[in-house]
Amino acid sequence: MIVMKFGGTSVGSVNAFAQVAQIVARSAAEEATKPRPGVAVITSAMSGVTNLLIDAATKAAHGSATSHHEITATLAKKHGEVLEHFIANRAERATLERMLEERLEEFERLCSSIAVLGELTPRGLDLVSGLGERINAPVLAAVLRSQGVAAESVDAVEIVATDRAFGEAEPLMEQTTERCRARLLPLMERGIVPVVTGFVGATLDGIPTTLGRGGSDYSGAIVGAVLDVDEIQIWTDVNGVMTADPRIVPNARSISQLSYEEVSELAYYGAKVLHPKTVIPAVRKRIAVRVLNTFEPEHPGTLILEHSNSEEYGSVKGITAIRGMTLMTIAGRGMAGVPGIAARAFGAVARSNANILMISQSSSEVNICFVIPHNSVASTEAALRD
Ligand code: ASP
Ligand code: MG
Repeated sequence: MIVMKFGGTSVGSVNAFAQVAQIVARSAAEEATKPRPGVAVITSAMSGVTNLLIDAATKAAHGSATSHHEITATLAKKHGEVLEHFIANRAERATLERMLEERLEEFERLCSSIAVLGELTPRGLDLVSGLGERINAPVLAAVLRSQGVAAESVDAVEIVATDRAFGEAEPLMEQTTERCRARLLPLMERGIVPVVTGFVGATLDGIPTTLGRGGSDYSGAIVGAVLDVDEIQIWTDVNGVMTADPRIVPNARSISQLSYEEVSELAYYGAKVLHPKTVIPAVRKRIAVRVLNTFEPEHPGTLILEHSNSEEYGSVKGITAIRGMTLMTIAGRGMAGVPGIAARAFGAVARSNANILMISQSSSEVNICFVIPHNSVASTEAALRD
């Protein structure tokens, strides 16, 4: 049993959809011969869609009552093209077009309300930003069916239960396990591929949430973990995790194996290929995660396991860069040898809610440095001075 997550570019065009259908068809056939068969697909929104949705909501909050109309038209066209290309059956096409229309009407209604209120709450933003996935899962399921793969779309709002941290929600694993198993396993046992919306979930009282930008990877891992799958596959547009960002370092290579810990470090420190939280659900169940390229499916990509083959390749696997950071220094003779100075300094940083990425202290103990995001500098400085 496997979970296959497809990112935005993997479902970004008619050609990409065709490619995904081939990949899923092949895996479904392979899985059918296994003792515990089954494929579940998790999908992102089409590439660029989440940005458009967020943009529209932000503009509405700034008072524009009309700028979302243009985005509605863009989204209708983008998804309409896919339906037109793949869905020959008239009745089915009409049903999907109605779904698309309803979701877009919902989008328009939400943007109008935001414009009237002149305010965009995290809860309102989650309602808008998750629409891309909620449109795309039924589209992808239909495309798969058109290519001979039995598939049914499932809205994660029904099966991924989360806390109320809108914009960065965390799954409630007990309820999510129960719901995912009850909804997905019967389909998979019948050879039907569930196509689940990535990125979104809902609170226990049913209010839609999102798991944070790029969160579909996390969705894939959550669903994989609760179904106890043999492998979680993250299908993207590069050959796995690379030694550096290939846009900056042209001769960057793919890394064949990484440990959960290594990939987390790379992701937290700027490697865009995987959402930093992706491996958390996998680690607990020791499920292998594989990062693969939709546009070069034969490439082995990167396999992520408990222990990587560091002996073979040395301990430095890759280099990442992260922008928008500030190095803050606290210095003074009054610090040397004063017990508790670090606790007091970092207590102040913690009260300002800044996320510390790195800490160092000089051997003379007269200064402590740490790295935080730019946008936390003012509040952190104020807390420290206080
Ligand atoms: N569509 C969402 C985003 O762009 C989630 C994802 O693609 O992983 O952030
Ligand atoms: Mg991503």
